[in-house]
Amino acid sequence: MTTGVFWNDVYNGKEWDIIGNKFQNFPGAMSRQLKLPRVRLYTSEKVSEELLLKIHTRRFLDDLKRQWYCEGVMLSAGGAVAATEKILSGEIDNALVFDVGAGHHAERDSAWGGTYASAAGPAFYNARQKLGHKRFAIIDTDSHHGNGTRDIFRNDDDVLHVCFCSTNIIEGNGTKICVDAGWRTTDDEYMDKVRREFIARARDFKPDMLLHKFGHDTCQGDYGDRGLTPEFFPRLAQEIKHCADAVCHGRYLVLTHGGDRRDVAEFIFPRIIEVLRGVGLDLNPNR
Ligand SMILES: [Zn+2]
Ligand SMILES: [Zn+2]
Repeated sequence: MTTGVFWNDVYNGKEWDIIGNKFQNFPGAMSRQLKLPRVRLYTSEKVSEELLLKIHTRRFLDDLKRQWYCEGVMLSAGGAVAATEKILSGEIDNALVFDVGAGHHAERDSAWGGTYASAAGPAFYNARQKLGHKRFAIIDTDSHHGNGTRDIFRNDDDVLHVCFCSTNIIEGNGTKICVDAGWRTTDDEYMDKVRREFIARARDFKPDMLLHKFGHDTCQGDYGDRGLTPEFFPRLAQEIKHCADAVCHGRYLVLTHGGDRRDVAEFIFPRIIEVLRGVGLDLNPNR
């Protein structure tokens, strides 16, 4: 099992919109995990404009290029594109992709909320063109509705999108689902919903890869607090990894999303590398 970690040093020096400087102490915070055998560190590179224009309008892209955060957005989307290609070509089995500004609030022609270009859109487009893989399952456990992801894949029945937000919706021939995650949920209640609403569907859907929009803004004390503990997040990654092992040869991409608690980021992402790498789950906070 080989795990790719996609990072760029641009990520740790700025107060990014919404998430702040939560990666300030990275990549050092995961130095031990990066030394594990079969963990590879990749430097994320910018997504090409040509590829972004397969998803977004020219007007949207021109506006993005005028913003101070553009570099971080393009690097984040580029990391997702490269990781998806490497997973589907067999170079790596799974990946943790750091993201400071691309993701689930970016629609084709508008964006908000800290994510200013699509990551999944160019990643899937590129994989389909180059490798012929067709079907993808997205689980979004950020606290907020993934309006951008929904907009981009609305008419694409080969993309399963299960979004844990604040409404219950089933549309798109059963491939586009929102689940009301509740505001004062326990770790176990949330995990039960993940099993019922995502894992069961992913089994039937038979995707080529799972993409996980991995927000931790749902954590206690964060800006999208739904009552979850920090320990929940590595457990969640392990649960979805087991699902990927069962349904798509372990092809699993974790894409960081919302959450601004630096202590939580430093607790969960090193452990998620261990989970992806298959060395098990260690929730001891003082190790
Ligand atoms: Zn969020
Ligand atoms: Zn939703």
